Amino acid sequence: MATERTLSIIKPDATRRNLTGKINAKFEDAGLRIVAQKRVQLTKAQAGEFYRVHAERPFYDELCEFMSSGPVVVQVLEGEGAIAKNREVMGATNPADADPGTIRAEFADSVGENSVHGSDAPETASDEISYFFAGRDIVG
Ligand code: UDP
Ligand code: MG
Repeated sequence: MATERTLSIIKPDATRRNLTGKINAKFEDAGLRIVAQKRVQLTKAQAGEFYRVHAERPFYDELCEFMSSGPVVVQVLEGEGAIAKNREVMGATNPADADPGTIRAEFADSVGENSVHGSDAPETASDEISYFFAGRDIVG
C-alpha cells in the first residue's frame, strides 16, 4: 500500500473539551504522522464551502453552524493507506455505531458533534488538503 495524505479536522466539540492532544495520540498510535496542523476559526460560509457536497442534506445548515461554533484544528495526516486508516481510527459517523477504542466511540457527543472529520477518498483528500494548506505548509 502506498504512502498517502488525508485531511483531518478536530471539530469544535472536541477543541471545546481540550481533547486535541488525546485525539492526536490516537492518530500517532495508529502510525499516522501529523505533517501539517493549524488551529483556525471557520466562518459559517467557509464551513458551507468545505461541506458543499452535503448542501442538499437535511443536516447541512446545522452542520455549518456547528463547524463554525468554535475553533477547529485542521491537519494533514500521512502514512501507509492513510485515508482508510484514519477512517478506522475515527470510527463510524454515529458514535453509537463506532467500534470500541475509536475516537468517535471514546469522545464524540452525537452523530452531528462527532469530534473529527476525515477525507473519504484520494480525490477528496487532495481537494480538502488544498482547501486549507499550500504545499510549503506540509512537511513530511
Ligand atoms: N452529519 C449529521 N447528521 C447525519 C449525518 C452526518 O449531522 O445524519 C454530520 C456529521 O458531523 C458528519 C458530517 O455531517 O461527520 C459529514 O457526514 P458524512 O456522512 O460525510 O460522515 P463522515 O464522513 O464525517 O463520517
Ligand atoms: Mg464524509
